[in-house]
Amino acid sequence: MASSLKARGNLLANPSEQLRVLTRTDCIVPFEERMRRAGLDPLYATGITVFQINVGKLCNQTCRHCHVDAGPDRRETMSRETAELCIRALAQTEMAQVDITGGAPELNPNFRWLVEQAKALGRHVIDRCNLSVLLLASQADLAEFLACHEVEVIASLPYFRSAQTDAQRGAGVFEKSILALRTLNQLGYGRQGTRLLLNLVCNPVGAFLPPKQEALEAQFHRSLEREHGVVFNHLYTITNMPISRFLDFLRETDNYEGYMERLVNAFNPAAAAGVMCRYTISVGWNGTLYDCDFNQMLDLPLHSGLPRHIADFDAGLLHQRRIVTCNHCYGCTAGTGSSCGGSIA
Ligand code: SF4
Ligand code: SF4
Repeated sequence: MASSLKARGNLLANPSEQLRVLTRTDCIVPFEERMRRAGLDPLYATGITVFQINVGKLCNQTCRHCHVDAGPDRRETMSRETAELCIRALAQTEMAQVDITGGAPELNPNFRWLVEQAKALGRHVIDRCNLSVLLLASQADLAEFLACHEVEVIASLPYFRSAQTDAQRGAGVFEKSILALRTLNQLGYGRQGTRLLLNLVCNPVGAFLPPKQEALEAQFHRSLEREHGVVFNHLYTITNMPISRFLDFLRETDNYEGYMERLVNAFNPAAAAGVMCRYTISVGWNGTLYDCDFNQMLDLPLHSGLPRHIADFDAGLLHQRRIVTCNHCYGCTAGTGSSCGGSIA
C-alpha cells in the first residue's frame, strides 16, 4: 500500500507549500478577481446548516487523490474532550446536519459516541464512508450500528468498474466496496421504502472534470444492479481539488497548469454562488474551525476576528462570516460544482 505524502517526506505534505504552488499559478486569473467579476467577492456565509466534523486523518486506505493525505500511518485523531466541545456547540444551535468525515471517521474511538449524541439532539447525521472500512474485523457491527441510528451513508466509489476504482483507491478496493454495499443493502440501505439513505460519490480518475451527473448516475445504477446486485439512492459527482495528493499527482504527471486552466474555463457563477462553505462550518481533529474541509487541509483558518476554536464557537459571529478563499476554490466553482457537500472520505 502507498504511504501518505507526510510519511514520504514530500514537500507538499506542508500546507504552506501547497498554497505557494496555488498562489503562484501565473496562467490563471486569481480566484478573488474572478469572483469579483461575478459580483461575489468578498464571499459571505448565508447561515450554517451543516456542521462538518473531521475526526482525523487515520484511514485504512491511501487513495491516490486524497485531499486529506490520510492513511494508516497518520495519527491525528479527535479526542473525546474535543468531541464533547463539538456536541456542546451543536446543542447551542439549530444546525440540521452533522457531517462526519476523516480519514475513515469510523476508526476514531469517539465516532459512535458523536453519532449517538447528534441523533439524541435530533440532527440528521452523515457518515462519509470509504466502504472497505465495513470489512475490517474491528468494524464487524458497524453497518448495523449505522442502520440502527439511521445514519446517511455517503460512500466513495470513483467508478462502476474495478480497473478505474482500484487505480485510484488501491488494489482490491472495488471488490471490497461491492461487498460492503451488499451488506448495507441487506440492512435496507439504498432501498425504496426505508429511511436508510445510501448515496455514492464519484470523482474523476485523472486530470479531467467530472461528466454530467445525470447520465453517469443512470450508468452507475444500471451497471451496479445488473452486474453486482447493488442498489443505491443517488450518485453525486465531485471535482478533484488541486490540493494535497491530487496536487502531487497533477505535478508529477505534468498536468497541473492544464488542469487549473480547465477549472478556470469552467467557472460557473451559479455554482460559485452556491458553494458549500456558505452554509457549512468545518471543525478539525484538534478543534480548529475552518470554512470547509479543503481550507482545513490547507491550514487556512477563519477570517481574522472570528472564533478560531470550537471551544469559542459563536453561532452569531459565524453565521454571516466572511469566507477565506484561494485558487483551490476553482475546484468548487467549475461546471455544476460539487453536489454533495464537497469532500469525500
Ligand atoms: S474550497 Fe472551501 S472555501 Fe473555497 S469555495 Fe470551496 S467550499 Fe468554499
Ligand atoms: S480518499 Fe478517503 S478513503 Fe481514500 S485515503 Fe483519503 S480519507 Fe481514506
